[in-house]
This record gives sequence, structure tokens and C-alpha cells, in this order.
Amino acid sequence: MKSVVKKGFVYLVGAGPGRADLITVRGAEVLQAADCIIYDKLANPALLKFARKDAEIIPVPKRIGNRSVTQQDINKLLLKKASSGKIVVRLKGGDPGIFGRCAEEAAVLADTGIDFEIVPGVTAGTAAAQYAGIMLTDRRYSSQVVFVTGREAEGKQDSNIDWPWLAKFRGTIVFYMAVGNLDFIVKQLIDNGMEQDTPAAVVTDATFPTQKTVKASLRLLSKKCKEEKVEPPTIIIIGRAADSDARLNWFMKKPLFGKNIVVTRDARGNADFAAKIIQQGGNPIEFTTIKIKPLINTNRFIRALIKPAEYDWIIFTSSNGVEIAFDFLRSLGKDARVFSSAKIAAIGSETAAKLREFGIKADFVPTIYTSKELGKQLAAFWNLHGRKVLLLRSQLAPLEVSRQGRKSSPQDKLLTGLASDELVEWLERAGAKIENVPVYRIVTAKSKCSWLIEKIAEGTIDWLTFASPSSVRGFFEQIPADTVNSSSIKVASIGPVTSEQLRNLNIKIDVEAAEHTIDGLLTAIEKTYK
Ligand code: SAH
Repeated sequence: MKSVVKKGFVYLVGAGPGRADLITVRGAEVLQAADCIIYDKLANPALLKFARKDAEIIPVPKRIGNRSVTQQDINKLLLKKASSGKIVVRLKGGDPGIFGRCAEEAAVLADTGIDFEIVPGVTAGTAAAQYAGIMLTDRRYSSQVVFVTGREAEGKQDSNIDWPWLAKFRGTIVFYMAVGNLDFIVKQLIDNGMEQDTPAAVVTDATFPTQKTVKASLRLLSKKCKEEKVEPPTIIIIGRAADSDARLNWFMKKPLFGKNIVVTRDARGNADFAAKIIQQGGNPIEFTTIKIKPLINTNRFIRALIKPAEYDWIIFTSSNGVEIAFDFLRSLGKDARVFSSAKIAAIGSETAAKLREFGIKADFVPTIYTSKELGKQLAAFWNLHGRKVLLLRSQLAPLEVSRQGRKSSPQDKLLTGLASDELVEWLERAGAKIENVPVYRIVTAKSKCSWLIEKIAEGTIDWLTFASPSSVRGFFEQIPADTVNSSSIKVASIGPVTSEQLRNLNIKIDVEAAEHTIDGLLTAIEKTYK
């Protein structure tokens, strides 16, 4: 029998410049299909979240040891992976065809008979302009745009750049890769007759929270860039368009633009929170303090989740609890219908939103998102007398400590804090029959912390955020309270329970969210800048 050789396929994909969500829908789609992803330094590694779990990920660094990685090395790698039958994504910053060596890679594929598709991307020149509020064309004064490289291919004898022509160009000039050569570029333009007071704008780290812009006339451009320590990656825009209307600088005007904000939840919670901070222009710094360990193998959990319809009320106090319960149901081949007519309560809007993802609309959500208010308001609005209530929540450290008969040390007391369980107290007072089933346990996640201690001490971090008492515990088990108290860093707390835990450790709180959600926490921080 003739063996069939599976032929590979290569997608040459533009990742967009900087932030990950500037990739095109097509780009994200093919990333999900890839067996192998070969990516450049300028492609945002956050894009790898689209990759399949089993995909092979190959970063191509500029150098390996003291040898630089050449275009031939990359071509060889592409061919090797594609000829072994793989779907390969070659991920490049910006647009693959703009100073991206796409032509060389595509030609090698064509020569070898490997099929390919090119997925365009948003190029740094247009992205940098838009994120700095600069319009590259304007029908009043700029009807043409030219993209120019500030660094021509090494070893080239004659320049492809027509300086006399460029110096007379009436439109917008966009330079890529120009920082290292700026003195030369400016000199060529001026020597060839460009007006010295032609406006210029420099955009570094475009689309990132670290974006920086510098504006100057052509004459002062090099000097100002040196003063401001401008480094690559940078786009330089020259022409009347660079003298832009400051009101259009929408990105750098965002409320949290450039603010460094530490997030201290579990890894997944941090990723969600970080995305929201980026949306507001801020720079999230992820520090994982806790891990969520599902407790789905306990008899209590299994018994409760197999027949949840036997309860009158089922209470979820976190979106983690919802996720773990539904993962468990899915593993049994079941879904939301097991809850039947049992009523469902959620502690707040995030937990209710998570329930909706699984097809459940919560019957009750308190107006204030704390466990105390949940108990108090549920008892006020519904008759709970003799009702069977299932509490699905995290294992409470203080209760566990006392239940296991372990004596708590004074340090334990400080770190575990709250001894009372107001949710249970309110429900008991209303005459409910409570079944308290821990769904997960929160344990401290040890993270590398010397870098963070250094940054806090340097004063380069603006905010430290806490979204739960366990994050406070996890954080201060690793970072000394003094480091925080003796610095200028501000502390934001999601609500009273978290604040109490902070106060137990003598940490000064700068803001407490009025609405006890991640969005509420961000709003509280934003308000301090208004
Ligand atoms: N193919 C890419 C360009 C690669 S050349 C594209 O279409 O965008 C690399 C140059 O792109 C850098 O030297 C810089 O001039 C520019 N660049 C890439 N990312 C940038 C960013 N986030 N901010 C400013 N310039 C960027």
C-alpha cells in the first residue's frame, strides 16, 4: 500500500503590535488550530493563550548563546516543522509584510511546495499613531503617508532611501527601527531641505500601558529623545500630522494610564483582573498569593452534589465555588437541571454572572456583596424556618483550625483573622437547617517575591489591591508588612471583610470599594484620580 504523507501548512500571521487583543479574528482562529507556533520577540506572548494545550511553542530569540539566530535558521525551522505534516503558525509582530521579512519566508515555502496563508496584522506605524491620537492622514494637510525603515538591510551598498525625495515629501513620514540612527536620519532630512521646524512625534512601546510619547520639532528631535531616554521599539512620525490635537490622545487619557497596579489573587483571578486593568490603560503586575484546591472528593461534597434538589436553598459565596461545582456535575454527565426547583442564592454580581454561564439565574443576590449581608438579607426576604440550606463555599480557615483541635498561635490569629461566621449565624437565627459543605480550600501560593519587595521599596508601584482576606494572608505571609507601610504604595481593598484582615496586620488602607466586586475595586481606585 502506498503511504500517504501528510503535508503541513504554514500560516504567516501578524500578531498586531503590542497588546494582544489587536490580533485579527482570523489570526486568533489559526492560532487555535496550530500544532506548532514559532513566534518573534515583538509578538505578545499573551497571545499564546489562544494556543492548544498540546501545541508546540517555539520562541525565536535574537541570539542563542553568543551566536545570533539568522533568517536561515528560522527558514530551516519552518520547513522542518511543516514538512513533518504540522500546521505551523509563524507569529510576527505587527503586519508580516511590513518590515517583517515575510517575503523571504514565503518564498522558501513556495520553493519547497509547502502551502501557506498570510494573515495581515495591524502594523506598528498605524497603531502607534492611533494610540497617540495622531491621524496619519488629514484631508486638510496630509494626503499621503510613507513607511520608511531607519535601518536598511545590513551589507547593502546603495541606500534604497531617496533622501532628497523624502525631504520634499508633502505628507506624513513614518519611521520604523529608527532610534539608533536618529541623528543620521534627521541630518539627511535637514541637509536635503526639510524645514527644521517640521513637527515630529515619537511613540515608544505603543499600545502598552508603558507607552511614552515625545514631541519636538525636527531640529530638536534627537536631543529631546536622548533627554527622554527613548529606546526601541519606537515609531517616529514626521510631518504636520505629528502636531496633533491633544484632545484626541484618548489612550493616554484613560483613568489608570501608566499606573502600576499589583493584583494578588489566584492565577486565574489575577488574569481576569489584569485584563480589566489593561482595559483602563493601567499596567497590571501579577503576584499570585493563593491557590484554589477543589475538595470534590469528600463524602460531604459528593453526597450534597448528587442530590442537590433535596435542599430548599443552595448558596454560592464565590464564582470559584460555582465553577468547581459545575465542573464536578459535568464529570458526572449532569447539568444545571439537577438543582430542579431548589432556590439559588449568590453572594454578589460576579458569582451570579458565573451561575448564568451555566444556565442558572440566581433567585437571590443581596444588595451589598458580603457574606454577612447575604445571610441577613436572605433571612429578611424569605422564610427560612425549617428550610434545608446547602452552603457551598470555601473551607474557612479559622473554623478548620478549631475543628481539628489545633491550638492557634497568636500569629495564626493575626493571619486568619475573623473568628465569627456571620452568614451561618444569620441563617441559624432564622431557623434554617444548614449543611455547610466546603467546595475548595485556599492555600498560600509561594511566589518569587524579592523583585516585588524591591519594586515596592523603589516607589515604582502605585497600587496594591486585595480582593479577599485569604489574598491578604497569602500576600503578607511572603512580603513583610513593613515593606508596604514604609513605602508610598497605596492599598485598595474590595470590602469590609478584606479591610478587617488588613487592619489586623496594621496595614493602612487608602480606599475600600463601595461595590464589593473587582469592577467596584477598580472604580474606587479610578475615583482617586478624578
Ligand atoms: N512587522 C512589524 C514591524 C517590524 S520592524 C509591524 O508591522 O509593525 C520592528 C519595528 O516596529 C520596531 O523597531 C519599531 O519601530 C516598530 N514597533 C513594533 N512594535 C512597536 C511598538 N509596540 N511601539 C512602537 N514601535 C513598534
